[in-house]
Amino acid sequence: MNIFHQKLEKKKKLLSSFFMLIGADFSEEKNIFNITLPDNVAVEFKNSRLKLVLQPPYPSEDSSLMPEELFLEKLYQICLKRGKVASFIIDKKATSIDTLDKLKFINVRAERNGSYSYIKKALIFHFQVSINQPENWRKIYQIPIDPYDLKRIDWISEELLLTSPLKPLETRKKVISNKKLQEAYKNTIFYLKGRLEDDLVDFKLRNRQHLQRTFDKISNYYNRLKADEKKRIELLESQVKKIEDKIKKHRSLRTFSRYLTEKRKLAIRIEEEKGKLSQYLDKIKLFELKEKNREKERHEIICNIDLIAVSLLHYRLIREMILLYNNSSKAILNVYVIPSASKLEPPICQSCKKPTENIGLCSNSHIVCPQCLNECSMCK
Ligand SMILES: [Zn+2]
Ligand SMILES: [Zn+2]
Repeated sequence: MNIFHQKLEKKKKLLSSFFMLIGADFSEEKNIFNITLPDNVAVEFKNSRLKLVLQPPYPSEDSSLMPEELFLEKLYQICLKRGKVASFIIDKKATSIDTLDKLKFINVRAERNGSYSYIKKALIFHFQVSINQPENWRKIYQIPIDPYDLKRIDWISEELLLTSPLKPLETRKKVISNKKLQEAYKNTIFYLKGRLEDDLVDFKLRNRQHLQRTFDKISNYYNRLKADEKKRIELLESQVKKIEDKIKKHRSLRTFSRYLTEKRKLAIRIEEEKGKLSQYLDKIKLFELKEKNREKERHEIICNIDLIAVSLLHYRLIREMILLYNNSSKAILNVYVIPSASKLEPPICQSCKKPTENIGLCSNSHIVCPQCLNECSMCK
């Protein structure tokens, strides 16, 4: 399968899961989706039956056929209009993780001491970002935030969201307070800016280089104008030199006074020209500045950020309690496992507060990393 087909298959999978999510009936044949929309969505499309065409050519005689871009644009408009919080759960069979296997125990024995699982929530802000140059550059960003500590949840990647089976979830109306939501939004923007910085770095660089080249061209043009003017004055000054030579070699009083008048006239003209030149140079400087500012404005990357949806993702978390013991110490270690991401949150060292997968116990039963084992700050 080539890349094009892989992309197409991925798109089909994504659209299928989307149609399932909104409760639409659909079938797909030869890259055309036949869709029956549920009433609440059909209103927006003014039609309950749709045919979505994934690949050109788009047959023109059938009015219910819709090109993919148009469909996505419409969806985007609906998202903007509605802006309500949708709830989903990652509907994935739990893959068991052997926590005792994943962690290393330094000076202790470890035994499982029971576990329980519960559902946690993640707020996901969906943004569409578009910039003016390169033209038509658009990208959807999803930023997952923990609604309680308001930190970004790293393990919920876009890939995970696209590949995990999501199931819509009915939730009570008030899931999160407006104040909390606003705070979460603020943090999200902060994280989004960071990601945008990374993504736009190449565009910015190319833009800067192009602007520099344009600036150089403008400078060259005006420098040439300036040089031409200066040359004119130099020419006049060389004429003065010639007259001075003539004055030195004058033969009669009459020619002497004629040369002198000529020289005086020329000097006046040079003064005039110099005055004009400085005005001209000032004007040119202004033109050059204006033109450069105009180019600078033209090169500015303008970023449009639209919040298109907020969703609440539910996922399962398992808390496992592990009994740690040796001859002198004993403690219970809580380990958190996220089955849908096949991930174990590394425990935090009680002494240095850093995550660690190597676990030891100090002489006063603090759970610590190898570095803190001999010098536990909790014991001081
Ligand atoms: Zn430590
Ligand atoms: Zn200690």
